[in-house]
Amino acid sequence: MKRRKIDKIITPHVLLNPHDCKACWACIDTCPSKVIGKVSFLWHKHALIINSGACTGCLKCVKTCSAAAFIPLKNTTRHDGR
Ligand code: SF4
Ligand code: SF4
Repeated sequence: MKRRKIDKIITPHVLLNPHDCKACWACIDTCPSKVIGKVSFLWHKHALIINSGACTGCLKCVKTCSAAAFIPLKNTTRHDGR
């Protein structure tokens, strides 16, 4: 059960802190691999990981999120050269 909960906030390359998420949905549009989805209830909205295995580590989500809700994991370097 715990494992499944973690799967919703982590990929091999990034960690998502849903508590910092402002639900702007910019990361969803930015992610080229459709890794990120939404929880979108009236009073409860935040991004979540829906396809962890598809994450390529491009870190576009990290760069896009103005709330710093995405944190790159240690071994990940940007694939876009920035
Ligand atoms: S870009 Fe950041 S604040 Fe916006 S939905 Fe994604 S995680 Fe949340
Ligand atoms: S690192 Fe790239 S592929 Fe992975 S969730 Fe972020 S934007 Fe998507």
